[in-house]
Amino acid sequence: MNEGVQIDPPRQRDLIELNASASALPPLVDNFQRRITYLRLSVTDRCDLRCSYCMPERMTFLPKAEVLTLEELHDLATGFIARGVTKIRITGGEPLVRRDIIDLFTALGRRLGPKEHGGLAELTLTTNGTQLASHAEALAHTGVKRVNVSLDTLDRAKFAKLTRRDALPQVLEGIAAAKAAGLRVKLNAVALKGINEGELPDLIAWAHGQGHDVTLIEVMPLGDVEEERLDQYLPLDDVRRDLEHRWTLTDNAHATGGPARYVDVAETGGRLGFITPHTNNFCAGCNRLRVTATGQLYPCLGGGEQVDLRAALRSDAPEANLAAALDEALRIKPEKHHFRMDNRDAAPAVPRHMSMTGG
Ligand code: SAM
Ligand code: SF4
Repeated sequence: MNEGVQIDPPRQRDLIELNASASALPPLVDNFQRRITYLRLSVTDRCDLRCSYCMPERMTFLPKAEVLTLEELHDLATGFIARGVTKIRITGGEPLVRRDIIDLFTALGRRLGPKEHGGLAELTLTTNGTQLASHAEALAHTGVKRVNVSLDTLDRAKFAKLTRRDALPQVLEGIAAAKAAGLRVKLNAVALKGINEGELPDLIAWAHGQGHDVTLIEVMPLGDVEEERLDQYLPLDDVRRDLEHRWTLTDNAHATGGPARYVDVAETGGRLGFITPHTNNFCAGCNRLRVTATGQLYPCLGGGEQVDLRAALRSDAPEANLAAALDEALRIKPEKHHFRMDNRDAAPAVPRHMSMTGG
């Protein structure tokens, strides 16, 4: 069944509209003078894969009634744009398993435009790629220019073991379809001890050969996953040292305002990013906020602080209450995360799974 969303602006509803007066709204600046311009918006906690570092096989998903409707997601995003957010990444769970998700992309795609007019500079998504083959063209039409696809291995058996689903061919098809649709693809790979560590150079060389950048990520202690995190944790400093024996890596100043540090690989001609929450703290330049599919705003991926935007949205005065909730989020955004990977017996640093807040 179609959710029947009518999220085409202009709308009649008593909610936040992006208009000339929006520019009068104060920008989002936190207590550490970090300007927030980037929203990661999760549209579902559901997923068609079960990556072993992300969620258990028997994952309990949220009742659908708790998840924001597409219209509410659009209203929220509009509220953020009105406060100066210029980049939105749609994430999950797996965003492309959400029914009618292209309607949300279409509506948000209409917000793309010049900054002086309060426009969105970039609309993008993070996906596991399983549904990308059927959505790539439509995404490109909505104004999406780049997609991040998560891919940790090119070995089909290893992929099936790691994600608990035999879906590598679909993912590769999805990546090819994205490229064919004119989308720039960046691959994200979580570096996993004893799983893909020996394969990372091949994965990087393959991706660069296809014209795709790659970012490597250290596993983070989010949620219980039936596996021992310390057994999965592979410090990227070690990976980089190994790669330096093989290739010439040159620091690249490319900055996204995000946590990745980039290098150019002379031999492959591609760019490689490292996201190292453990070995290097990346919080000083943090420009982002994260919202779950139920409208919980987490000012920090690695912290428990949270603000309920759904309550604000569903209240009698959504505009005022959303503004107040965003101010509260800015007030409580911590200076930095406190992930640790050195205590085998400890509970996960953060009880919620990565699939709640997205990546
Ligand atoms: N399903 C989509 C995907 O996999 O791209 C989007 C959501 S997924 C939670 C976003 C990213 O988080 C993926 O690149 C995934 O590899 C990464 N991720 C999930 N759990 C993680 C963890 N515990 N530590 C580090 N990265 C994680
Ligand atoms: Fe699904 Fe992405 Fe988590 Fe894998 S990392 S289980 S694809 S949400």
